[in-house]
Amino acid sequence: MKLIEACRRLTDADLMDGLERAVRCERGFAALSIAHLIEISQRRLHEDEGYSSLFEFCTKKLGYSEGSAYKRIQAARAAAEFPALLEALANGRIHLTALVILRPHLTADNYGDMLSEAEGKSKRELEHLAASLSPRPDLRDHIQRIPLPESQPGESPAASDSSPENERSSEPDARVPHPPIMVSPTRIETDSIRPISPERVHFGFTGGEPLRVKIQRLKELLRHKHPAGKLEDVIDAAAEFYLERKDPDRRKETFARKPRAGLSDHSRRVPQSVRSAVWKRDDGRCSFVSKSGQRCSARGGLEFDHIVPWAVGGRSDAVENIRLLCRAHNQGAAIRRFGDRARRRREPQ
Ligand SMILES: [Zn+2]
Repeated sequence: MKLIEACRRLTDADLMDGLERAVRCERGFAALSIAHLIEISQRRLHEDEGYSSLFEFCTKKLGYSEGSAYKRIQAARAAAEFPALLEALANGRIHLTALVILRPHLTADNYGDMLSEAEGKSKRELEHLAASLSPRPDLRDHIQRIPLPESQPGESPAASDSSPENERSSEPDARVPHPPIMVSPTRIETDSIRPISPERVHFGFTGGEPLRVKIQRLKELLRHKHPAGKLEDVIDAAAEFYLERKDPDRRKETFARKPRAGLSDHSRRVPQSVRSAVWKRDDGRCSFVSKSGQRCSARGGLEFDHIVPWAVGGRSDAVENIRLLCRAHNQGAAIRRFGDRARRRREPQ
């Protein structure tokens, strides 16, 4: 590799200088790429490129790992609100992980102080700092495999669910090499439901792999309603769905109070037969295709979209007027039709 050869020829002093320069550039470019992400996100260009979310764009188009993409998106959101953070990142006062940890606690009043506080702190110290700012917050959603007693060589002892919300707590490069003590096959914790504040309750239990898969699928199906995919929302929605249909007490109630839906409602609703046909035709996947031919791969949070809008006479019962779109591309289509401030930003000034 030429780069290694080039370094091998340097004097010790030049090697050290060169490294410092490279690290400065690295930080500068990280800040620069985050600044680009902020603007791309605001113009929704990633949607035009055929990606249903900035996260998908960062992983699939830009080739970031899930963890790196998550951090950059969090940093972009924080910096969009507090631009000084980007300079702090560029000159090395704080690192990306610090931004991710502190982001939920930043306000217009405290972010200057927080920046100084965060300088030079490790991840663990930053988590302490964050915890001291918000005592006893809800515990984070957490799905973790129970490790084998002796992990096989080359096998990760605890493979965490790799969904973005868990990247916060399980950064791969900072993971402890030995399995966590609290989860061992001999000490499976029993179900627990314990209050952590007057209004909030912590739920904990151990379940099988099929349940994890089901919950993951539920998250996808509910993404349009609960984009963050919090277990609280997802399990609540599933429980509601079941109770609404099966709970005899509720059935009595609903029959008593629910008026019949109006006729206009019926004609806007896409009939089940059309839904099935459209789902089959679009292969259960967002049908958006970018100018360069990139088809959106979203299979979660899909919506049935009227190609000719219902409001201007588009039919709900014609398969050719209905298509599957993910939330992002459905909103994008609505914006293109009806105009929006975000969309107008794209026009040259
Ligand atoms: Zn899409």
